[in-house]
Amino acid sequence: MTVSTTESSTTQNVVFDAKLISRLSQSGPRYTSYPTADRFTESFHYRDYLQAVAAAHARGGRHPLSLYIHIPFCDTVCYYCACNKIVTKNHEKAATYLGYLKREIEMQGRLFTGFNHIEQLHFGGGTPTYLSDAQMDDLMQHLHRWFQFAPDEAGEYSIEVDPRTVTPERVHRLRAQGFNRISLGVQDFDADVQKAVNRIQPEDKTLAVIAAARAAQFRSVSIDLIYGLPKQTIFTMAQTLEKVVAANPDRIAVYHYAHLPHLFKPQRRINEADMPAADVKLDMLALCIRRLNQAGYVYIGMDHFAKPTDDLAIAQRQGRLHRNFQGYSTQSDLDLLSFGVSAIGAVGASYSQNVKTLDAYYEHLDKGELPIARGFKLTMDDLLRRFIIQMLMCNFELSIRSLEQAYPITFSSYFAAELDKLQELAELGLVTLDEEWISVTLKGRLLIRNVCMVFDRHLREARSLQSEAQRYSKTV
Ligand code: SF4
Repeated sequence: MTVSTTESSTTQNVVFDAKLISRLSQSGPRYTSYPTADRFTESFHYRDYLQAVAAAHARGGRHPLSLYIHIPFCDTVCYYCACNKIVTKNHEKAATYLGYLKREIEMQGRLFTGFNHIEQLHFGGGTPTYLSDAQMDDLMQHLHRWFQFAPDEAGEYSIEVDPRTVTPERVHRLRAQGFNRISLGVQDFDADVQKAVNRIQPEDKTLAVIAAARAAQFRSVSIDLIYGLPKQTIFTMAQTLEKVVAANPDRIAVYHYAHLPHLFKPQRRINEADMPAADVKLDMLALCIRRLNQAGYVYIGMDHFAKPTDDLAIAQRQGRLHRNFQGYSTQSDLDLLSFGVSAIGAVGASYSQNVKTLDAYYEHLDKGELPIARGFKLTMDDLLRRFIIQMLMCNFELSIRSLEQAYPITFSSYFAAELDKLQELAELGLVTLDEEWISVTLKGRLLIRNVCMVFDRHLREARSLQSEAQRYSKTV
Protein backbone atom coordinates (compact mmCIF):
# COMPACT_ATOMS: atom_id res chain seq x y z
CA MET A 1 0.00 0.00 0.00
CA THR A 2 1.34 3.47 -0.80
CA VAL A 3 0.21 6.99 -0.21
CA SER A 4 1.82 9.60 -2.38
CA THR A 5 3.83 12.18 -0.47
CA THR A 6 3.01 14.71 -3.14
CA GLU A 7 -0.72 14.54 -2.69
CA SER A 8 -2.79 16.98 -0.70
CA SER A 9 -5.65 15.28 1.11
CA THR A 10 -8.40 17.42 2.59
CA THR A 11 -9.79 16.02 5.80
CA GLN A 12 -12.26 17.31 8.34
CA ASN A 13 -10.16 19.98 9.94
CA VAL A 14 -6.61 19.57 8.72
CA VAL A 15 -4.91 19.38 5.33
CA PHE A 16 -1.87 17.22 4.74
CA ASP A 17 0.39 19.04 2.28
CA ALA A 18 3.46 16.85 1.77
CA LYS A 19 5.44 19.43 -0.19
CA LEU A 20 4.94 22.08 2.44
CA ILE A 21 5.79 19.73 5.28
CA SER A 22 8.94 18.48 3.55
CA ARG A 23 9.99 22.04 2.96
CA LEU A 24 9.22 23.52 6.38
CA SER A 25 9.53 20.71 8.93
CA GLN A 26 12.38 21.66 11.24
CA SER A 27 13.62 20.98 14.75
CA GLY A 28 11.50 22.79 17.30
CA PRO A 29 9.91 22.63 20.76
CA ARG A 30 6.58 20.97 21.53
CA TYR A 31 5.44 23.90 23.72
CA THR A 32 4.03 22.02 26.68
CA SER A 33 5.34 25.14 28.38
CA TYR A 34 6.65 28.55 27.38
CA PRO A 35 9.47 29.22 27.96
CA THR A 36 10.41 25.60 27.31
CA ALA A 37 12.09 23.50 30.01
CA ASP A 38 15.54 23.79 28.45
CA ARG A 39 15.51 27.50 29.40
CA PHE A 40 15.16 26.73 33.12
CA THR A 41 18.18 27.74 35.20
CA GLU A 42 19.73 26.72 38.49
CA SER A 43 19.57 30.32 39.66
CA PHE A 44 15.92 29.56 40.49
CA HIS A 45 15.96 28.44 44.13
CA TYR A 46 13.64 26.97 46.69
CA ARG A 47 12.94 30.49 48.02
CA ASP A 48 11.80 31.58 44.53
CA TYR A 49 9.29 28.75 44.60
CA LEU A 50 8.08 29.83 48.06
CA GLN A 51 7.65 33.39 46.75
CA ALA A 52 5.58 32.08 43.83
CA VAL A 53 3.39 30.12 46.25
CA ALA A 54 2.97 33.19 48.49
CA ALA A 55 1.95 35.25 45.44
CA ALA A 56 -0.56 32.56 44.44
CA HIS A 57 -2.06 32.63 47.94
CA ALA A 58 -2.15 36.45 47.89
CA ARG A 59 -4.35 36.30 44.79
CA GLY A 60 -6.96 34.87 47.15
CA GLY A 61 -10.18 33.26 46.03
CA ARG A 62 -10.60 29.66 45.10
CA HIS A 63 -7.97 28.61 42.59
CA PRO A 64 -8.14 24.88 41.88
CA LEU A 65 -4.87 23.02 41.48
CA SER A 66 -3.55 20.31 39.23
CA LEU A 67 -1.25 17.58 40.56
CA TYR A 68 1.33 15.55 38.65
CA ILE A 69 2.92 12.43 40.15
CA HIS A 70 6.01 10.97 38.49
CA ILE A 71 6.71 7.26 39.00
CA PRO A 72 10.06 6.77 37.26
CA PHE A 73 10.43 2.98 37.32
CA CYS A 74 10.10 0.55 34.40
CA ASP A 75 10.71 -3.21 34.27
CA THR A 76 12.37 -3.13 30.86
CA VAL A 77 13.59 -0.41 28.51
CA CYS A 78 11.90 0.51 25.24
CA TYR A 79 14.64 1.52 22.83
CA TYR A 80 12.81 4.60 21.53
CA CYS A 81 12.35 5.99 25.04
CA ALA A 82 13.19 9.63 25.77
CA CYS A 83 11.57 9.75 29.22
CA ASN A 84 13.22 10.21 32.57
CA LYS A 85 13.00 6.66 33.90
CA ILE A 86 14.86 4.07 35.97
CA VAL A 87 14.88 0.55 34.57
CA THR A 88 14.96 -2.04 37.36
CA LYS A 89 13.25 -5.25 38.31
CA ASN A 90 14.00 -4.58 41.97
CA HIS A 91 10.57 -3.41 43.16
CA GLU A 92 11.99 -2.63 46.62
CA LYS A 93 13.20 0.61 45.05
CA ALA A 94 9.59 1.64 44.51
CA ALA A 95 8.81 1.13 48.19
CA THR A 96 11.65 3.47 49.21
CA TYR A 97 10.62 6.01 46.57
CA LEU A 98 7.02 5.93 47.74
CA GLY A 99 8.10 6.84 51.27
CA TYR A 100 9.93 9.92 50.01
CA LEU A 101 7.15 10.84 47.59
CA LYS A 102 4.73 10.91 50.51
CA ARG A 103 7.07 13.25 52.40
CA GLU A 104 7.14 15.62 49.43
CA ILE A 105 3.34 15.48 49.15
CA GLU A 106 3.02 16.33 52.82
CA MET A 107 5.41 19.29 52.52
CA GLN A 108 3.52 20.71 49.54
CA GLY A 109 0.21 19.90 51.23
CA ARG A 110 1.25 22.02 54.22
CA LEU A 111 2.29 24.88 51.91
CA PHE A 112 -1.11 24.83 50.24
CA THR A 113 -3.27 24.40 53.35
CA GLY A 114 -6.55 26.22 52.68
CA PHE A 115 -5.77 26.46 48.95
CA ASN A 116 -5.78 22.77 48.18
CA HIS A 117 -8.79 22.16 45.95
CA ILE A 118 -7.82 19.69 43.19
CA GLU A 119 -9.53 19.43 39.80
CA GLN A 120 -6.84 17.60 37.88
CA LEU A 121 -4.47 14.74 38.69
CA HIS A 122 -2.10 12.96 36.36
CA PHE A 123 0.16 10.00 36.99
CA GLY A 124 3.01 9.63 34.50
CA GLY A 125 6.37 7.99 34.23
CA GLY A 126 8.20 5.77 33.78
CA THR A 127 5.41 3.36 34.54
CA PRO A 128 2.88 4.47 37.17
CA THR A 129 1.54 0.90 37.39
CA TYR A 130 4.99 -0.25 38.49
CA LEU A 131 3.48 0.46 41.92
CA SER A 132 1.49 -2.44 43.35
CA ASP A 133 -2.24 -2.14 44.10
CA ALA A 134 -1.49 -1.72 47.79
CA GLN A 135 1.15 0.97 47.11
CA MET A 136 -1.27 2.85 44.86
CA ASP A 137 -3.99 2.64 47.55
CA ASP A 138 -1.54 4.04 50.07
CA LEU A 139 -0.45 6.87 47.76
CA MET A 140 -3.99 7.88 46.81
CA GLN A 141 -5.08 7.91 50.44
CA HIS A 142 -2.09 10.11 51.25
CA LEU A 143 -2.98 12.53 48.44
CA HIS A 144 -6.56 12.72 49.70
CA ARG A 145 -5.27 13.43 53.22
CA TRP A 146 -3.43 16.55 52.03
CA PHE A 147 -5.61 17.79 49.18
CA GLN A 148 -9.36 18.21 48.61
CA PHE A 149 -10.38 16.48 45.39
CA ALA A 150 -13.36 17.64 43.33
CA PRO A 151 -15.98 14.90 42.88
CA ASP A 152 -15.40 12.39 40.11
CA GLU A 153 -17.70 14.13 37.61
CA ALA A 154 -15.96 17.49 38.10
CA GLY A 155 -12.32 16.34 38.04
CA GLU A 156 -9.93 15.01 35.39
CA TYR A 157 -7.97 12.18 37.06
CA SER A 158 -5.76 10.35 34.61
CA ILE A 159 -3.11 7.67 34.59
CA GLU A 160 -0.69 6.39 31.95
CA VAL A 161 -0.85 2.61 31.81
CA ASP A 162 1.55 0.14 30.27
CA PRO A 163 -0.80 -2.69 29.23
CA ARG A 164 1.99 -5.20 29.84
CA THR A 165 1.84 -4.41 33.56
CA VAL A 166 -1.89 -4.58 34.30
CA THR A 167 -4.70 -7.13 34.33
CA PRO A 168 -8.38 -6.28 33.76
CA GLU A 169 -8.85 -6.58 37.54
CA ARG A 170 -6.12 -3.98 38.06
CA VAL A 171 -7.91 -1.63 35.65
CA HIS A 172 -11.09 -1.89 37.75
CA ARG A 173 -9.01 -1.24 40.86
CA LEU A 174 -7.54 1.92 39.28
CA ARG A 175 -11.07 3.17 38.62
CA ALA A 176 -12.01 2.44 42.25
CA GLN A 177 -8.88 4.32 43.35
CA GLY A 178 -10.29 7.44 41.70
CA PHE A 179 -8.87 7.54 38.17
CA ASN A 180 -11.43 8.40 35.50
CA ARG A 181 -9.19 8.72 32.40
CA ILE A 182 -6.72 6.17 31.19
CA SER A 183 -4.07 6.38 28.52
CA LEU A 184 -2.38 3.31 27.07
CA GLY A 185 1.03 3.11 25.47
CA VAL A 186 0.62 0.97 22.35
CA GLN A 187 3.05 2.50 19.81
CA ASP A 188 2.55 -0.26 17.21
CA PHE A 189 0.74 -3.60 17.12
CA ASP A 190 3.21 -5.16 14.68
CA ALA A 191 5.32 -7.96 16.18
CA ASP A 192 8.51 -7.11 14.24
CA VAL A 193 8.30 -3.44 15.20
CA GLN A 194 7.70 -4.39 18.84
CA LYS A 195 10.78 -6.63 18.73
CA ALA A 196 12.91 -3.91 17.13
CA VAL A 197 12.07 -1.48 19.95
CA ASN A 198 12.17 -4.09 22.75
CA ARG A 199 8.54 -3.65 23.70
CA ILE A 200 6.75 -6.97 23.25
CA GLN A 201 3.10 -6.24 23.96
CA PRO A 202 0.62 -8.91 22.89
CA GLU A 203 -2.39 -7.44 21.11
CA ASP A 204 -4.90 -9.42 23.16
CA LYS A 205 -3.47 -7.97 26.37
CA THR A 206 -3.88 -4.41 25.10
CA LEU A 207 -7.42 -5.09 23.90
CA ALA A 208 -8.32 -6.71 27.24
CA VAL A 209 -7.15 -3.56 29.07
CA ILE A 210 -9.26 -1.36 26.78
CA ALA A 211 -12.31 -3.59 27.31
CA ALA A 212 -11.78 -3.49 31.07
CA ALA A 213 -11.46 0.32 31.01
CA ARG A 214 -14.81 0.55 29.20
CA ALA A 215 -16.45 -1.89 31.60
CA ALA A 216 -15.05 0.07 34.56
CA GLN A 217 -16.56 3.26 33.07
CA PHE A 218 -13.43 5.32 32.59
CA ARG A 219 -14.60 8.61 31.06
CA SER A 220 -12.00 8.44 28.32
CA VAL A 221 -9.64 5.85 26.92
CA SER A 222 -6.64 7.13 25.02
CA ILE A 223 -4.08 5.27 22.90
CA ASP A 224 -0.56 6.44 22.08
CA LEU A 225 1.01 5.46 18.75
CA ILE A 226 4.41 6.31 17.28
CA TYR A 227 5.33 6.55 13.61
CA GLY A 228 8.90 6.42 12.33
CA LEU A 229 9.96 3.38 14.39
CA PRO A 230 12.35 0.71 13.05
CA LYS A 231 10.73 -2.01 10.91
CA GLN A 232 7.62 0.13 10.41
CA THR A 233 6.27 0.24 6.88
CA ILE A 234 3.21 1.85 5.40
CA PHE A 235 1.67 -1.64 5.42
CA THR A 236 2.34 -2.31 9.14
CA MET A 237 1.09 1.16 9.97
CA ALA A 238 -2.14 0.54 8.03
CA GLN A 239 -2.69 -2.70 9.92
CA THR A 240 -2.03 -1.07 13.28
CA LEU A 241 -4.47 1.74 12.44
CA GLU A 242 -7.20 -0.76 11.56
CA LYS A 243 -6.75 -2.42 14.94
CA VAL A 244 -6.74 0.91 16.75
CA VAL A 245 -9.90 2.10 14.99
CA ALA A 246 -11.59 -1.24 15.81
CA ALA A 247 -10.62 -0.78 19.48
CA ASN A 248 -12.55 2.52 19.34
CA PRO A 249 -10.62 4.71 21.85
CA ASP A 250 -11.90 8.22 22.60
CA ARG A 251 -8.52 9.81 21.95
CA ILE A 252 -5.50 8.85 19.88
CA ALA A 253 -2.07 10.45 20.01
CA VAL A 254 0.22 9.83 17.04
CA TYR A 255 3.76 10.90 17.86
CA HIS A 256 6.65 11.23 15.48
CA TYR A 257 9.63 9.18 16.68
CA ALA A 258 12.47 11.63 17.30
CA HIS A 259 15.75 9.76 16.88
CA LEU A 260 18.21 11.66 19.08
CA PRO A 261 20.70 8.97 20.19
CA HIS A 262 23.23 11.61 21.31
CA LEU A 263 20.68 12.65 23.96
CA PHE A 264 18.90 9.38 24.79
CA LYS A 265 21.06 6.32 25.41
CA PRO A 266 18.42 3.59 24.77
CA GLN A 267 18.00 4.93 21.23
CA ARG A 268 21.57 3.85 20.45
CA ARG A 269 20.28 0.27 20.49
CA ILE A 270 18.03 0.96 17.52
CA ASN A 271 19.37 -0.32 14.23
CA GLU A 272 19.29 2.79 12.06
CA ALA A 273 19.22 0.65 8.91
CA ASP A 274 15.75 -0.55 10.01
CA MET A 275 14.31 2.95 10.26
CA PRO A 276 11.87 4.16 7.60
CA ALA A 277 13.06 6.84 5.18
CA ALA A 278 11.80 10.42 5.52
CA ASP A 279 9.37 10.11 2.59
CA VAL A 280 7.92 6.88 4.02
CA LYS A 281 7.40 8.59 7.37
CA LEU A 282 5.47 11.34 5.61
CA ASP A 283 3.36 8.67 3.90
CA MET A 284 2.66 7.19 7.32
CA LEU A 285 1.57 10.54 8.70
CA ALA A 286 -0.72 11.11 5.71
CA LEU A 287 -2.20 7.67 6.21
CA CYS A 288 -2.79 8.25 9.94
CA ILE A 289 -4.58 11.53 9.30
CA ARG A 290 -6.71 10.12 6.51
CA ARG A 291 -7.65 6.91 8.29
CA LEU A 292 -8.43 8.55 11.62
CA ASN A 293 -10.52 11.24 9.96
CA GLN A 294 -12.37 8.58 7.98
CA ALA A 295 -13.09 6.86 11.27
CA GLY A 296 -14.59 10.10 12.59
CA TYR A 297 -11.74 11.44 14.73
CA VAL A 298 -11.01 15.17 14.68
CA TYR A 299 -7.52 16.63 14.70
CA ILE A 300 -7.09 18.53 17.97
CA GLY A 301 -3.57 19.72 17.22
CA MET A 302 0.04 18.64 17.87
CA ASP A 303 -0.30 14.86 17.29
CA HIS A 304 -3.70 14.51 18.98
CA PHE A 305 -7.00 13.21 17.63
CA ALA A 306 -10.31 12.79 19.46
CA LYS A 307 -13.87 11.75 18.78
CA PRO A 308 -16.10 14.81 18.18
CA THR A 309 -18.02 13.85 21.33
CA ASP A 310 -14.89 13.74 23.48
CA ASP A 311 -14.35 16.52 26.05
CA LEU A 312 -11.20 17.74 24.26
CA ALA A 313 -12.96 18.16 20.92
CA ILE A 314 -15.92 19.88 22.60
CA ALA A 315 -13.57 22.20 24.54
CA GLN A 316 -11.77 23.11 21.32
CA ARG A 317 -15.03 23.95 19.54
CA GLN A 318 -15.94 26.16 22.51
CA GLY A 319 -12.50 27.86 22.65
CA ARG A 320 -11.80 26.36 26.11
CA LEU A 321 -8.95 24.01 25.23
CA HIS A 322 -5.66 24.33 27.12
CA ARG A 323 -2.21 22.85 26.91
CA ASN A 324 0.16 22.02 29.73
CA PHE A 325 2.94 19.57 30.58
CA GLN A 326 0.55 16.64 30.20
CA GLY A 327 -0.59 17.76 26.74
CA TYR A 328 -4.07 19.06 25.87
CA SER A 329 -6.57 19.58 28.67
CA THR A 330 -10.08 20.93 29.26
CA GLN A 331 -8.96 22.57 32.51
CA SER A 332 -7.97 26.23 32.40
CA ASP A 333 -4.56 27.38 33.60
CA LEU A 334 -4.44 25.67 36.98
CA ASP A 335 -1.38 25.99 39.16
CA LEU A 336 0.44 22.68 38.80
CA LEU A 337 2.16 20.99 41.74
CA SER A 338 4.46 18.17 40.68
CA PHE A 339 5.96 15.38 42.74
CA GLY A 340 8.80 12.96 42.16
CA VAL A 341 12.17 13.01 40.43
CA SER A 342 12.45 15.39 37.46
CA ALA A 343 8.79 16.50 37.80
CA ILE A 344 7.98 20.01 36.57
CA GLY A 345 5.55 22.29 38.36
CA ALA A 346 4.02 25.62 37.33
CA VAL A 347 2.82 28.00 40.05
CA GLY A 348 1.82 31.54 39.15
CA ALA A 349 4.44 33.12 36.91
CA SER A 350 7.05 30.44 37.63
CA TYR A 351 8.17 26.97 36.61
CA SER A 352 10.17 24.68 38.86
CA GLN A 353 11.73 21.30 38.22
CA ASN A 354 12.81 18.68 40.73
CA VAL A 355 16.24 17.06 40.82
CA LYS A 356 16.68 14.20 38.37
CA THR A 357 18.35 11.44 40.39
CA LEU A 358 16.96 9.35 43.24
CA ASP A 359 19.98 10.09 45.44
CA ALA A 360 19.59 13.85 45.10
CA TYR A 361 15.81 13.56 45.60
CA TYR A 362 16.22 11.62 48.84
CA GLU A 363 19.01 13.91 50.05
CA HIS A 364 16.88 17.07 49.71
CA LEU A 365 13.89 15.51 51.44
CA ASP A 366 16.09 14.14 54.24
CA LYS A 367 17.17 17.75 54.84
CA GLY A 368 13.51 18.82 54.98
CA GLU A 369 13.70 20.78 51.71
CA LEU A 370 11.58 20.50 48.62
CA PRO A 371 13.81 18.85 45.98
CA ILE A 372 13.78 21.75 43.51
CA ALA A 373 16.81 21.85 41.18
CA ARG A 374 16.00 24.62 38.76
CA GLY A 375 13.23 26.73 37.35
CA PHE A 376 12.22 29.95 35.69
CA LYS A 377 10.54 33.21 36.70
CA LEU A 378 8.42 34.49 33.83
CA THR A 379 8.56 38.17 32.89
CA MET A 380 5.55 40.04 31.56
CA ASP A 381 6.94 39.48 28.06
CA ASP A 382 7.10 35.71 28.72
CA LEU A 383 3.50 35.69 30.00
CA LEU A 384 2.32 37.55 26.92
CA ARG A 385 4.11 35.16 24.56
CA ARG A 386 2.92 32.15 26.57
CA PHE A 387 -0.66 33.33 26.13
CA ILE A 388 -0.19 33.76 22.36
CA ILE A 389 1.43 30.32 21.93
CA GLN A 390 -1.33 28.73 24.03
CA MET A 391 -4.03 30.34 21.84
CA LEU A 392 -2.37 29.24 18.61
CA MET A 393 -1.73 25.69 19.85
CA CYS A 394 -5.27 25.17 21.15
CA ASN A 395 -7.52 27.29 18.94
CA PHE A 396 -5.39 27.80 15.80
CA GLU A 397 -6.19 31.52 15.95
CA LEU A 398 -5.45 34.64 17.94
CA SER A 399 -7.62 37.70 18.37
CA ILE A 400 -5.26 40.66 18.24
CA ARG A 401 -7.88 42.98 19.72
CA SER A 402 -8.50 40.70 22.74
CA LEU A 403 -4.78 40.54 23.34
CA GLU A 404 -4.47 44.33 23.23
CA GLN A 405 -7.33 44.61 25.73
CA ALA A 406 -5.64 42.17 28.13
CA TYR A 407 -2.07 43.50 27.79
CA PRO A 408 -0.82 47.11 27.56
CA ILE A 409 0.69 46.80 24.10
CA THR A 410 0.03 47.78 20.52
CA PHE A 411 0.43 44.48 18.73
CA SER A 412 1.71 45.87 15.43
CA SER A 413 4.60 47.70 17.06
CA TYR A 414 5.39 45.27 19.89
CA PHE A 415 5.51 42.33 17.49
CA ALA A 416 6.69 44.12 14.35
CA ALA A 417 9.52 41.62 13.74
CA GLU A 418 7.18 38.67 14.37
CA LEU A 419 4.62 40.10 11.95
CA ASP A 420 7.28 40.20 9.23
CA LYS A 421 8.00 36.53 9.83
CA LEU A 422 4.29 35.69 9.92
CA GLN A 423 3.92 37.45 6.59
CA GLU A 424 6.44 34.99 5.13
CA LEU A 425 4.39 32.10 6.56
CA ALA A 426 1.24 33.70 5.14
CA GLU A 427 2.82 33.75 1.68
CA LEU A 428 3.50 30.02 2.08
CA GLY A 429 -0.13 29.44 3.07
CA LEU A 430 0.37 28.53 6.74
CA VAL A 431 -1.50 31.48 8.23
CA THR A 432 -3.84 34.29 7.26
CA LEU A 433 -3.37 37.75 8.74
CA ASP A 434 -5.52 40.82 9.10
CA GLU A 435 -5.76 43.63 11.63
CA GLU A 436 -8.01 41.60 13.91
CA TRP A 437 -6.97 37.96 13.59
CA ILE A 438 -4.02 35.63 13.10
CA SER A 439 -5.49 32.35 11.88
CA VAL A 440 -3.66 29.12 11.16
CA THR A 441 -4.88 27.60 7.90
CA LEU A 442 -5.91 23.96 7.57
CA LYS A 443 -2.59 23.11 5.96
CA GLY A 444 -0.70 25.18 8.55
CA ARG A 445 -2.12 23.12 11.43
CA LEU A 446 0.36 20.26 11.02
CA LEU A 447 3.11 22.88 11.18
CA ILE A 448 1.69 24.70 14.19
CA ARG A 449 5.07 24.52 15.93
CA ASN A 450 6.58 26.60 13.11
CA VAL A 451 3.96 29.28 13.72
CA CYS A 452 4.50 29.27 17.49
CA MET A 453 8.27 29.42 17.08
CA VAL A 454 7.85 32.88 15.53
CA PHE A 455 6.83 34.16 18.98
CA ASP A 456 9.53 32.28 20.93
CA ARG A 457 11.97 34.98 21.96
CA HIS A 458 14.17 32.57 23.92
CA LEU A 459 14.53 30.27 20.95
CA ARG A 460 15.55 33.18 18.75
CA GLU A 461 18.19 34.26 21.26
CA ALA A 462 19.54 30.72 21.67
CA ARG A 463 19.62 29.97 17.96
CA SER A 464 22.81 31.87 17.43
CA LEU A 465 24.45 29.87 20.25
CA GLN A 466 23.45 26.27 19.62
CA SER A 467 22.03 24.09 16.91
CA GLU A 468 18.33 23.43 17.56
CA ALA A 469 18.66 20.08 15.78
CA GLN A 470 20.79 18.96 18.72
CA ARG A 471 17.96 19.47 21.19
CA TYR A 472 14.55 19.21 19.57
CA SER A 473 12.56 16.79 17.51
CA LYS A 474 11.29 17.74 14.04
CA THR A 475 8.08 19.76 13.97
CA VAL A 476 6.42 16.96 11.93
S1 SF4 B 1 8.66 4.15 26.89
FE1 SF4 B 1 7.61 4.11 28.88
S2 SF4 B 1 7.67 1.96 29.49
FE2 SF4 B 1 9.19 2.19 27.87
S3 SF4 B 1 11.12 2.59 28.95
FE3 SF4 B 1 10.22 4.57 28.46
S4 SF4 B 1 9.05 5.16 30.22
FE4 SF4 B 1 9.46 2.97 30.41
